[in-house]
Amino acid sequence: MYDRNNIFAKILRGEIPCKKIYESEHALAFEDIHPKAPVHVLVVPKGEYVSLQDFSLHAPTAAVKGFFDAVAAVAKMLGVDKTGYRAIANHGADASQEVPHFHVHIIGGRKLGKLLPE
Ligand code: AMP
Repeated sequence: MYDRNNIFAKILRGEIPCKKIYESEHALAFEDIHPKAPVHVLVVPKGEYVSLQDFSLHAPTAAVKGFFDAVAAVAKMLGVDKTGYRAIANHGADASQEVPHFHVHIIGGRKLGKLLPE
């Protein structure tokens, strides 16, 4: 069940501010408020989807394409398409998803090391 009071829904409605990087018909990208690297941007679809699982199963094809086009455009704008970046989508409790509106973290600008601590 999608909660329309989540913080990214409020950002999409313009009710609270964000540091906007990019916007298209299908997606909005803005800086993470607690960056983990020199580049740390969140890309969110404009539609109401709780997580990657929800988005993958229920979003129309045009919205999925539009969303991933936005991810690629943001990476290019920030130059990390050349240097490398990590795209992270947390789904649910074991992944510690904090905000229940689907988002992809684009993280880069430094060496990121291994995928997970060992
Ligand atoms: P996740 O654990 O994948 O749900 O990550 C949620 C992310 O949203 C975290 O990295 C937070 O730092 C970030 N965040 C929370 N509130 C805001 C906000 N108002 N503006 C930008 N980023 C936020």
